[in-house]
Amino acid sequence: MKSARIVKPKESLEVKEVETPKAKGSQVLIKVQSSGVCHSDIHLWEGGYEGIVGQFLKTTDRGVKYPLTPGHEIAGIVNSLGEEAQGFTKHEKVLVYPWIGEGLCPACRSGEENLCDKPRSLGVYMDGGYSAYVLVPSYKYLIKLDDEMDTDASATLSCSALTAYGAVKNAILKPYDNVIIVGAGGLGLMAIQLAKALTGSKIIAMDLDDEKLRAAKNNGADNTINSKKEDPVKAVMELTDKMGADAVIDFVNASKTVETDMQFLRRRAKLVMVGLFGGELKLSLVSIPTRAYRLIGSYTGTLSDMTELVSLAKRGVIKPLVSNRFKLDQATEALTMLKQGKILGRGVINP
Ligand SMILES: [Zn+2]
Ligand SMILES: [Zn+2]
Repeated sequence: MKSARIVKPKESLEVKEVETPKAKGSQVLIKVQSSGVCHSDIHLWEGGYEGIVGQFLKTTDRGVKYPLTPGHEIAGIVNSLGEEAQGFTKHEKVLVYPWIGEGLCPACRSGEENLCDKPRSLGVYMDGGYSAYVLVPSYKYLIKLDDEMDTDASATLSCSALTAYGAVKNAILKPYDNVIIVGAGGLGLMAIQLAKALTGSKIIAMDLDDEKLRAAKNNGADNTINSKKEDPVKAVMELTDKMGADAVIDFVNASKTVETDMQFLRRRAKLVMVGLFGGELKLSLVSIPTRAYRLIGSYTGTLSDMTELVSLAKRGVIKPLVSNRFKLDQATEALTMLKQGKILGRGVINP
């Protein structure tokens, strides 16, 4: 089978023939139709993340091994099943849950495999979807899609939309809350759709780009703030009767955005940090207890969250946005375009 692999960080992905795996036991071999291109693929490609100033957090220190086939947003067709795999038949259309754990830690035991101590995620620790086929360790990680569901849009449910959903859930929004969504890219827009459909909160989108803010409005934001053109703190205060934000979901999560977020938090506010931009933050420690802030890290979502999302997508309650399509040998180009901010919505590779 043909796969696009990161052989060495920062070098172009190699597209080459590798042996097609065989499904054994509970494993299922999926013929990949769509594999989303995610920001975290860029970090795998670059070999790490920005830590506090001057520090680079290497992916290999987290257990990532190269060569690696990236791609964790995978939708496709069941090709073959191991002898113990049940509940699925050949040719069925499925979505793959990629946030797989080792199964035995407290997180895995309580249904939060995405937060496993020893993660085995597809496309991060195991070979993923930038490939003609992907081997899924168990049928339990598959969710059936309706025949009429588009695999490109559905693929984004397993990371982009799932991360947005996890973040919205972590913000525990109430109808009387004002929530600021920082960053109106693919994840931000999905979070706006979800917050609109599920919470009743007033949604204020913040970004530097007017085009993205227009998209935010079209996806359900009540108000928008261009933080390049206006003072974001003043603008939030004006839109919240001078009270500040009850919740902020920061899909950028850079030093600069979070420093600003901290200035418009209302008492009891939740700051949900999602983006992997990185950097560091200076905190006034006394304000954390006296103003009872809650700082929350949010990473992807659970298998049960993804099951809920598929249901919302089936009924058209949310509409995942796919903007660019690529062939397998354009994998490097797809990652480059994403890095340069040229993909509005989501890019998908069709092997
Ligand atoms: Zn992702
Ligand atoms: Zn675990």
